[in-house]
Amino acid sequence: MRFSVGSTAVFKSMLPLVVAMTLMGGIYLAVHWSTQQSDAVAVARQQQLIELVISKMQYSIAHDQESVTVWDDAVRTISQEWDREWVDSNLGSWMHSYFRHDGAFVVSPDRKPLYAFLVGEANEQNAFRNIVPEAMPLIARLQKRLAEGDEAGTSEQVLSIGESDLVRLGGRPAIVSVKPIVSDTGNIQQEPGGEFLHVAVRFLDGDFLTRLGADYVFEDVRFSVVPNLGQERSYAPIVSSSGETVGYFSWLPFRPGADVAKATAPVLLVAAFCLFALTGVLSMILRKRSRRLQQSQAELNHLALHDPLTGLANRASFNQLLARVVAASTADQTNALLYLDLDRFKQVNDTLGHPVGDRLMIEVAKRLKETAGAAAVISRIGGDEFTIVVEHARQDEVEKLCDSLIAAIRRPFEIDGQPVLIGLSIGVAVAKGNAADPVEITRKADIALYHAKTSGRNRYAIFGPHMDELIRTRRDLEQDLRAALEAGNQLEVFYQPVYSAASHEISSLEALIRWRHPNKGGIAPEVFVPLAETSGLIDRLGAFVLKEACSTAREFPDLDIAVNVSAVELGQRHYAAQVFSLLRQFGIEPSRLELEITETALLDEAGVCEKNITALREFGVKFALDDFGTGFSSFGRLQRLEVDRIKIDRSFVQAFDRPGGGVAIVQSIVGVAHAKGLRTTAEGVETEEQSEILRNLGCDELQGFHLAEPMSKNSLRERLGAERAQRTSS
Ligand code: C2E
Ligand code: CA
Ligand code: CA
Repeated sequence: MRFSVGSTAVFKSMLPLVVAMTLMGGIYLAVHWSTQQSDAVAVARQQQLIELVISKMQYSIAHDQESVTVWDDAVRTISQEWDREWVDSNLGSWMHSYFRHDGAFVVSPDRKPLYAFLVGEANEQNAFRNIVPEAMPLIARLQKRLAEGDEAGTSEQVLSIGESDLVRLGGRPAIVSVKPIVSDTGNIQQEPGGEFLHVAVRFLDGDFLTRLGADYVFEDVRFSVVPNLGQERSYAPIVSSSGETVGYFSWLPFRPGADVAKATAPVLLVAAFCLFALTGVLSMILRKRSRRLQQSQAELNHLALHDPLTGLANRASFNQLLARVVAASTADQTNALLYLDLDRFKQVNDTLGHPVGDRLMIEVAKRLKETAGAAAVISRIGGDEFTIVVEHARQDEVEKLCDSLIAAIRRPFEIDGQPVLIGLSIGVAVAKGNAADPVEITRKADIALYHAKTSGRNRYAIFGPHMDELIRTRRDLEQDLRAALEAGNQLEVFYQPVYSAASHEISSLEALIRWRHPNKGGIAPEVFVPLAETSGLIDRLGAFVLKEACSTAREFPDLDIAVNVSAVELGQRHYAAQVFSLLRQFGIEPSRLELEITETALLDEAGVCEKNITALREFGVKFALDDFGTGFSSFGRLQRLEVDRIKIDRSFVQAFDRPGGGVAIVQSIVGVAHAKGLRTTAEGVETEEQSEILRNLGCDELQGFHLAEPMSKNSLRERLGAERAQRTSS
């Protein structure tokens, strides 16, 4: 395909040259044709002219003869008182000197020569013998006509009777003309057919040709017996009255066309040269332009199929590739699709900035390429998502590849001298044969990826039918959650009391959502809260909890209330306004409400979370950072946190009794928090021992099953009532 695009482009760029050549060819042909045509016309005209000159010569010889053959003196001198000298001077040599005739003869009625003169032949007998073969038929014909009384002249100029013809005399072309010698007055009577005759000869070569050339502008006229003097000469045949070709005149013809061509050739040549030069330049410009066009076309093609940042194939070309690989597979060929997703890339991008994110992405692409090998086609199909198509895949090889890819990405990257840590999760789908549906393969790989991510990241999962089952369950659960939010009686908010470490008294309550599924029983918030986040139900869920919490806070005015807020909720523009209106509605002092957020809320790209946090804090609402120590936050980050409290994750507390346990970590967290003026709550206190340690470490509040489990509002009422009773009694 690329070839055909290129060749048409080359053809297009050659087009002016082709047109110019055709044009010049056309002009050349036209000129050639017209010169030939006019040359042919000129040659034909010259041939006609030759014929005309010859026939005129025939008449003029007859006419010359008449001046002496129609004459009483001549008749008398020849037939009665023969005078050779008179004959010679009047009918012989005089004809030669005056009319340039080459021969003159007087012949008796019985065809005997009485007088003979022929240029170049001194002997009279020989001279006559020379002309006998040619002249005798004419003499016979004339005598016959005379005897029959025929007296018709040859033409208007030649009034008297005669015979003449074109002949070859001794190899030379000649006109032979015979006339009877008759009386001009009619006084001398002769017997018809018994007249003396006068024969005139005129050679048509030599002097005749010279004159012909001079008078009619014929160049180099020559006589030849056969037309063999060269191709470029014109030939006119000399034909006798009997149709015999006596010979040919030839000459260098006048060729006006050729002359014109010769004259215009330089002009045409210059014009052609200019035209070629012009079209050559034009072609070059066009070619350059089309090359540039082709180049930008190629760039465009590349751009359309590649990710500009990493140079990897993009989603469009990945789709094409997968379809191609599947279609080209044999029935027992196994192909694998690896769906890769970077862990924590988004956080790096958000915290360190996009330029660092971009550079990291380039490094990631490089490592993936190095690990997967040059033959593998890696595509970047989303922000931090990649695919690798492995043809002829064997399970063990795919597993090995996944392991090495994960290991490669886990190795710290160094950007600007700063170590950056990210991870990689991979979902794998395997398909056999060419009947597989590429969309289905991608979907399976995506599901497998989801599993890899949810089962702890930095791992791979190969798609199996159970995953589809899980997806279906998830979809059903989502449906059920929607119904539960509608029904209102399946969801309930529980409250877990939080105790002051110093006074051992309840200082606040944490609202925790509970879902009693009609068939499945209690479902953990860790399962359905993320589901609500991804299915757009979190707003309604959050609003439900917040409303319940507000009503509880109104019921127990001396306790603060903590509510968990998902980052997705906090990322809604109107979140702060909704919280204000609820607090106002229930008449709750904003400072009694503490919103528990996780680190992801502090990392949002659009900054909406931050705006909500700022607005709510200005209003008096407090914030706590939940599950501190498990996420991305470092101690360095702690310095900049815009929160009032830190909730130390229960994993640290539960690690107290393990060797190298969390005591030291909790101690340093509390230290830094206090230095910043932040309060600390320890989560997951399950034993008296843990609670003692935490008190000693300086934790402000304690929360855990050891102190109180999350409970319904009714249980809370009872519990608080009992505690109050206990306090007043003691
Ligand atoms: P969390 O915010 O860390 O909530 C504390 C979790 O620890 C609760 O689990 C609680 O029952 C449990 N817990 C309390 N004391 C102990 C203890 O001594 N030992 C152990 N092992 N666990 C203890 P729960 O209620 O299952 O909630 C799990 C998570 O679900 C919560 O973690 C929170 O992140 C989320 N969640 C719960 N309710 C809501 C809610 O209304 N909205 C939002 N967005 N998230 C909620
Ligand atoms: Ca919490
Ligand atoms: Ca927590």
